[in-house]
Amino acid sequence: MKYIILICDGAADWSIESLDNKTIFESSKTPNMDWIATHGKMGLLRTIPEGMAPGSECGNMSIMGYDPKTDLTGRGPLEALSAGVSLKEKDIAFRCNLITISEGLIKDYNAGHISTREAKELIKVLQKELGGEGIDFFPGVQYRNILRLQGDIYSDQIYTTPPHDVLDEPYKNYLPQPKDPNDKIAVSTVRTLKRLIQQSNDLLKEHKVNRHRKKHGAPVATHIWPWSGGKKPKIKSFKEKYGLSGSVISAVDLIFGLGIAAGLKPIHVKGATGLPDTNYEGKINAAMEELKKRDFVYLHIEGIDEMAHTGNPKKKIDALEKFDKNIIKPIIEAEKNFNNNLVIAVLPDHYTPCKLRTHSREPVPFAIYNPRKYQDKERKFSEYNGKKGELGLIENGESFMKLFLNLDNNEIPT
Ligand SMILES: [Zn+2]
Repeated sequence: MKYIILICDGAADWSIESLDNKTIFESSKTPNMDWIATHGKMGLLRTIPEGMAPGSECGNMSIMGYDPKTDLTGRGPLEALSAGVSLKEKDIAFRCNLITISEGLIKDYNAGHISTREAKELIKVLQKELGGEGIDFFPGVQYRNILRLQGDIYSDQIYTTPPHDVLDEPYKNYLPQPKDPNDKIAVSTVRTLKRLIQQSNDLLKEHKVNRHRKKHGAPVATHIWPWSGGKKPKIKSFKEKYGLSGSVISAVDLIFGLGIAAGLKPIHVKGATGLPDTNYEGKINAAMEELKKRDFVYLHIEGIDEMAHTGNPKKKIDALEKFDKNIIKPIIEAEKNFNNNLVIAVLPDHYTPCKLRTHSREPVPFAIYNPRKYQDKERKFSEYNGKKGELGLIENGESFMKLFLNLDNNEIPT
């Protein structure tokens, strides 16, 4: 058997007044997702466990068959893995934004969308002046860089704050804090991070990249801001856990990081943008190639979520319809060539209600099509039909993955 999971990031939504109180799924023309729903089985999946923030890393980790409660250690290590930064067991990796602080307030979490080229120059000077002895800066994409701390003298038992959550707030209120003020290693780690934030300002404020930005009226990258630090997830590989080899296809670092942590092969597709203009055809071709070589493919499409964050239902519908036409349709067509040996699941990783313009935590609808369990029960892919579905509410990702792999009654390898 071969298996493919198709993710429409953030597609689940609430009913929307301007759409006659229908949801995005209900208002979109998605004949191909509806085909999966009609000939497959539906249910709801709790991708965001109680007490966890509804991030994409959490939602996708669940769908990959892991438990974010025990397995998720932060964005930092996932992005580091995706960027090819090596992490030993005790290393701690942080997302390290370049941000703008002015008059003591966090004015911009991305330093005016600083370019990758400019950011690289700044990270280089930080590494030269502040790096070494277990402290290392790695360039990433634009403002999204990595800070790695190595050695027994550092702890991951600290609180940090995502800078986008505290815009226009005094930065001093949101500096890293130890979880336990009596934890000496955590206290000393926090001291190091605060020192790096301060020293980054000394090095960055007069850097030529920033002088040039100032001259052109662009926000200056005044400080680094490390957050969501953690150690590499200690998880069994997908192969060990479920007995299958696999690949992950996406445009998003976090998703690649999850895949790499699970031992899936990351497939980078040229022209994959994370927006509705992404290279769908390239992604489908890559998926088909991977299915020849491996058992399982995880194909993630980000653009729908991006449109939900704009709060514009029309843009979100358009992005979802593109997903249906450019991803689901070719997969259904290709399925005919698999001699009843391709199982397909389609689902979002979490809700991103247009009204909220951010993620929310309700269980998401899913549909699983197994050609050996073909049925004909005409229905649309929607939140409501997921709730009414024959598979009911699945409480966690491991149960979902077992269900997905077991639908043909094959032995589950674990
Ligand atoms: Zn997401």
